[in-house]
Amino acid sequence: AKSTGRDRCAVFDEAMREEAMRILDLEADLRRAINVDGFVAFYQPIVRLDDRKIIGHEALLRWRHERRGLLLPADFIGLGEDSGLIEEVDWLLYRQAIDQLARTDSGYISVNVSPRHFLASDFADRLLRMIDRAGADPHRLRIEITEVALLDDVPRALRMLRTLRSHGVLAQLDDFGTGFSALSYLHRFPIECLKIDQSFVAGLIGETQPESVAVVRAIQALAGTLGIHTIGEGVESEAQRNALRELGCTYGQGFLFGQPSEDFHPALVRALVP
Ligand code: C2E
Ligand code: CA
Ligand code: CA
Ligand code: CA
Repeated sequence: AKSTGRDRCAVFDEAMREEAMRILDLEADLRRAINVDGFVAFYQPIVRLDDRKIIGHEALLRWRHERRGLLLPADFIGLGEDSGLIEEVDWLLYRQAIDQLARTDSGYISVNVSPRHFLASDFADRLLRMIDRAGADPHRLRIEITEVALLDDVPRALRMLRTLRSHGVLAQLDDFGTGFSALSYLHRFPIECLKIDQSFVAGLIGETQPESVAVVRAIQALAGTLGIHTIGEGVESEAQRNALRELGCTYGQGFLFGQPSEDFHPALVRALVP
């Protein structure tokens, strides 16, 4: 029994070693990829639920890894956050999104900003400078932040949002309903819209329906009080689209309307032309 235990230990150590090597590898790859355009923005349409008119796109980060293929944020964002590299990757993505804005005419583009990044003292200045240099319209760029970014340092978050907004860059609150949802704070922040987390949209159909309906209803009531609109995330079916509309949600995003893709979907962009 003793030797079996030791064997198991050896196997375990080997697995740990491999995992550590894999992470080190990926971190080295991440550093390299920053220098060789390994990161690309994919765009997913955000539509008006009643007529599917596109109002904007969310830019989503993808890593075109030379050996591992196309990687999703979940595959590497934790790593980038630990090493601080993700902020540089984010700037690469913002640059692409802002250039895309300057080239096209189809609503806004929203970009994701991690809480720590949002609270960096030069974030707003750097973003506004980038927009200015690209000759893009700041009113067509939006940032997506989570509640964590607001509540960690309220005065700083307020300053940041006000600065951005005074130059035209609006903020939408991501994954809403999953965080602390400190509702009493929310009215203090200049937020343009709430993105209803996809777990509640998924829950609108099936066993968890009563709970999800209750949450979405509460979010809609809150948004109504604040005079802002909502975007349902992760809309995959007509049933979910209809349920959201019935609950008073105006906008949606999800595979039903379009997958994230490297270009604005041609057919969808065409639909914009009257
Ligand atoms: P998120 O901001 O909540 O983005 C929405 C996620 O839902 C995206 O995953 C998108 O591909 C996925 N999605 C869209 N429609 C559907 C649907 O109908 N069904 C399902 N099941 N999923 C759908 P993705 O692209 O893997 O991104 C995951 C997260 O990574 C994002 O969640 C965001 O928090 C983060 N992220 C993405 N891009 C960036 C970035 O450029 N910078 C930073 N800091 N974070 C990013
Ligand atoms: Ca987002
Ligand atoms: Ca989200
Ligand atoms: Ca999310």
